[in-house]
Amino acid sequence: QLWAQVGLNEKIHLLLKKYQYEKPTPIQAQTVPAIMSGRDIIGIAKTGSGKTLAFLLPLFRHVLAQPKSAPGEGMIALIMSPTRELALQIYAECKKFSIILGLRVACVYGGASISEQIGDLKRGADIVVCTPGRMIDILCANNKRITNLKRVTFLVLDEADRMFDMGFGPQIMCIIDNIRPDRQTIMFSATFPPKVENVAKKILTRPLEIVA
Ligand code: AMP
Repeated sequence: QLWAQVGLNEKIHLLLKKYQYEKPTPIQAQTVPAIMSGRDIIGIAKTGSGKTLAFLLPLFRHVLAQPKSAPGEGMIALIMSPTRELALQIYAECKKFSIILGLRVACVYGGASISEQIGDLKRGADIVVCTPGRMIDILCANNKRITNLKRVTFLVLDEADRMFDMGFGPQIMCIIDNIRPDRQTIMFSATFPPKVENVAKKILTRPLEIVA
């Protein structure tokens, strides 16, 4: 399968060429069109499958289609990751595209200075990559004007099984409870045990399950 068959815009095509992502990986070929159709998706895929771009490419398209946010309005897309290493990897992949696409990305994770991250959010971000604990800290901080979740319409949970194994369940549910229910939700997980399946039932609407 070729990129032309998954239906992305011209700038994204040029960037895929620039980075020599010559054709979609199997998970990308299946999930990119499915996500772009607007459905909620459960993708069962491991690191190395190309799952990051599988959700980022439709995410860029979604965010580009929304009116630009004014300062203080909050992000349009939120990506949750279990660890800061993974968050930073997603952020790096995101940055490869976002600069040319004119999108602002922030990355918030524990174990690093919160004030810099708060500064990035205050300046305005269309896309936020986070670990759940730090995101809660920021949302609960006294200064309510740091950011908010009111405009989030595209939500990604990456490595969901790991996030729940690490005990982030309550934080994740607390964040999601504050996101509008008519959002599009994408969940990627390496495995799909009953615990993750139960959460999927709660947070996804009629999801399509795709196994790479
Ligand atoms: P991931 O599974 O998302 O961690 O991606 C694994 C690696 O594959 C990353 O280094 C990506 O930059 C790379 N990658 C993702 N999609 C493609 C593609 N379509 N063609 C070649 N490399 C890719």
